[in-house]
Amino acid sequence: MESLLQQINDHKTAITAFTANNAEDVEQFRIKWLGTKGLVKAIMGEMRNVPNDQKKAFGQILNEFKLFAEARFEALQAQFEGANTADLGHGSQDQSLPGDPISVGSRHPLTLVRNEMVAIFKRLGFSVAEGPEIEDDWHNFGAMNLPEDHPARDMQDTFYIKKPDNGNGPTWLLRTHTSSVQARVMETQKPPIRVICPGRVYRNETISARAHCFFHQVEGLYIDENVSFADLKQTLYFFVQEMFGKDVKVRFRPSYFPFTEPSAEMDISCLICQGKGCNICKHTGWVEILGSGMVHPKVLENFGIDSNKYTGFAFGMGVERITQLKYQVNDLRLYSQNDVRFLKQFTGVV
Ligand SMILES: [Zn+2]
Repeated sequence: MESLLQQINDHKTAITAFTANNAEDVEQFRIKWLGTKGLVKAIMGEMRNVPNDQKKAFGQILNEFKLFAEARFEALQAQFEGANTADLGHGSQDQSLPGDPISVGSRHPLTLVRNEMVAIFKRLGFSVAEGPEIEDDWHNFGAMNLPEDHPARDMQDTFYIKKPDNGNGPTWLLRTHTSSVQARVMETQKPPIRVICPGRVYRNETISARAHCFFHQVEGLYIDENVSFADLKQTLYFFVQEMFGKDVKVRFRPSYFPFTEPSAEMDISCLICQGKGCNICKHTGWVEILGSGMVHPKVLENFGIDSNKYTGFAFGMGVERITQLKYQVNDLRLYSQNDVRFLKQFTGVV
């Protein structure tokens, strides 16, 4: 085996000493050393004569030699790269080089998820309703059965824009939920009503990883004869399975909202830890994703809808929360910082 080692050393000396005057010389180097009948291949073939107990050690030496020859070839090649392109006869430009890529924008993650949510509910026959972000007190609160002293009406939570002049006219505010759109739909349409209301809403909150002064909701409203809580559950089951897959588990917890009775919050099994417990689910294995319930008869009566004849359900969820679960985004502020490095990670066609 001594002779084989000697041979490799001689080869290395020859490779190091080789100089090229033009691209043709480099090609000759490639054929001599790295070609299919080249010396590197020949010496690799010597492996079969190496005793078994030395194969591993020699394998490493031969491999290193191969890399050595390849590196020398690349260095020689780089030397004449400019000359090569000149040979093409297009001046100093290589016309065959790929062009500079054009960077293409992508949709915002919240837009992607909202569109997906809308598409799922459309398959169930819901249509989209939109309304103004600047609302009056009645559509945002009063019509939704939020009594005057309800904490959500407190200055801390709501951005008020204009108080009535000398007691005349409405109080104007930035809507705190898209329920105001539901109010406008009930005002103008007769049952059966089946709408979803996607949109931006505002709360007077300190901005942090977990809270923001604006966020996005998708609310739904279904009013018809004989609408039951079972219909509500089936609609939301369908949504969750379409959004997160068939394996996700769901549970309802009794809750309270002024505009629904009975009311329930819905949790899904944590997608991050598969229910084992993690920071996102606060180690419970469950994550709350929405509030829902049967529309309070008083809300129906506010719009002249006969609550003895018609019943309905409503639900509302945050687009940010669904996006967080789908893409595992842990800081709400990322959505509005316009950092391209964050935004370009999300792709989708919807
Ligand atoms: Zn978890």
